[in-house]
Amino acid sequence: RKRNADDLESLEKSVQDLGLKVEIKDFKDLPLSQPTASGLEASHFKTLTDIQSKAVPLALKGRDILGAAKTGSGKTLAFLVPVLENLYRKKWTEFDGLGALIISPTRELAIQIFEVLRKIGRHHTFSAGLIIGGRSLQEEQERLGRMNILVCTPGRMLQHMDQTAAFEVDNVQMLVMDEADRIMDMGFQTAVDAIVEHLPKKRQTMLFSATQTKRVSDLARLSLRDPEYVSVHEAS
Ligand code: ADP
Ligand code: MG
Repeated sequence: RKRNADDLESLEKSVQDLGLKVEIKDFKDLPLSQPTASGLEASHFKTLTDIQSKAVPLALKGRDILGAAKTGSGKTLAFLVPVLENLYRKKWTEFDGLGALIISPTRELAIQIFEVLRKIGRHHTFSAGLIIGGRSLQEEQERLGRMNILVCTPGRMLQHMDQTAAFEVDNVQMLVMDEADRIMDMGFQTAVDAIVEHLPKKRQTMLFSATQTKRVSDLARLSLRDPEYVSVHEAS
């Protein structure tokens, strides 16, 4: 599929011009590509949740994000929309390899993220995969080289980085750590540190968690660059 260069240019300009003072209420008021806009509409997502309206505009502009909001507040779209959009605006194709890596603490959560990605990303041409174990390492290895976006668990991802010779992460543009508090609680700190170590320094990182703990802020200090803090507190 061909992309109109003018469309991409004007999209880029709209993102640069996006004001951060006015609150965006509807997805249609964001400068989004047609594939993402269609995917959101087809999935019946219309209004942004609080964490989404705080995080998405900043993330579209390429900022690192440290986000805290309780379970159920819509953190998944807060990072998936920017992942799709930022790769799209970079004209990412199958030949560019892995562009975004999303780390989740458990297989179940990784599968949930992947399903949302498949829904809202259905009109994009990116390839996406799950790296969560449960299949043979070799089976996963064969698919790895072809993926643009991966959703993974930390242990399995590290195993591939250590063992899969052809697995390239040099081109990764975006790293997402979802449920960072649980990633830390489950003892994945060493694995996550090692993964981050493998990735290019120049990248965008988004770290989300339900709670703000010392371990999360330690991880943030090591992995984020000049992050924007976005948090949503429960109305009391
Ligand atoms: P969290 O990761 O913060 O726990 P999720 O991303 O799993 O939250 O979203 C929780 C629920 O809210 C899901 O059922 C999801 O489909 C729904 N949801 C998320 N964003 C929106 C939105 N903008 N409009 C309507 N429903 C949404
Ligand atoms: Mg979540």
